[in-house]
Amino acid sequence: MRIVRTLEELGDALEDADTVGLVPTMGALHEGHLSLIRTARDECDVLVVSVFVNPTQFNDPADLAAYPSDEPRDAALAEGAGADVFFAPPAEEIYPTGFATTVSVSGVSEPLEGAHRGKAHFDGVATVVAKLLIAVAPDVAYFGQKDAQQVAVVRRLVADLALPVEISVCPTVREPDGLAMSSRNVRLAPEDRPRALALKAGLDAAASAATEGADPRAAEAAGLAAMRERDVEAEYFAIVDPETFAPADDLTRPALAVVAATVDQVRLIDNQPIDPIPTQEAL
Ligand code: AMP
Repeated sequence: MRIVRTLEELGDALEDADTVGLVPTMGALHEGHLSLIRTARDECDVLVVSVFVNPTQFNDPADLAAYPSDEPRDAALAEGAGADVFFAPPAEEIYPTGFATTVSVSGVSEPLEGAHRGKAHFDGVATVVAKLLIAVAPDVAYFGQKDAQQVAVVRRLVADLALPVEISVCPTVREPDGLAMSSRNVRLAPEDRPRALALKAGLDAAASAATEGADPRAAEAAGLAAMRERDVEAEYFAIVDPETFAPADDLTRPALAVVAATVDQVRLIDNQPIDPIPTQEAL
């Protein structure tokens, strides 16, 4: 595996590459990231894993300062999972002096994560993803369902700019107890860890309520109640259209339950598809 830090070195490493895959990450790699890398490994000739803690997408400076980082560990894990190129640029390589461009996706970026973290969050994501997609020019870029709204924003970006890349979405990897894996989980104190399971409990409760015939707003209420039972107040809990992230009002079509909550000062997000309820005609 080659470790590269500049766009020029990256270009050299990808010269003559046939099918290129890209897994963009912010490091602190865990099984969720590794599942993306392993999937990509099987589908691409040259696999690039990027590690860049993108400062512009952090709305909270304390979150950025506390973000875990261990490059030698990440490099070893990426190599073990099959990466060929480990792209770990310094901030000035991505944002050189005078950098003045922002890629902003409206609509799907605005509610939920966009509203709670502020417009700069998805602007930061869209700008860095656009820069990485242009620099690496991958055939396929891999993202996790864990960050479902990010996926929707990236899909919109790629479609609108007609970027020649396929977006592949990999399922959320969970701890054995159901907690979605996240680089931030290491910051959860052991005594607060059980409360972190409230997000998944809320999603499960909303999905069961929907299966039993609840309308989307009632299913959201069931999700919130299940979280409160575990002493966690959601920042938001919503059942949305998975493409637009507008509130879903019809559960006969695919929908997604999405949640954010802060537990022990650690902000967590999760989501779960709600299976479409068959219509009367389909029964
Ligand atoms: P991050 O380093 O948090 O920016 O994540 C990098 C990529 O890994 C994103 O596409 C995430 O959606 C994905 N990812 C993070 N956690 C998980 C997980 N638990 N399961 C699957 N993919 C994940």
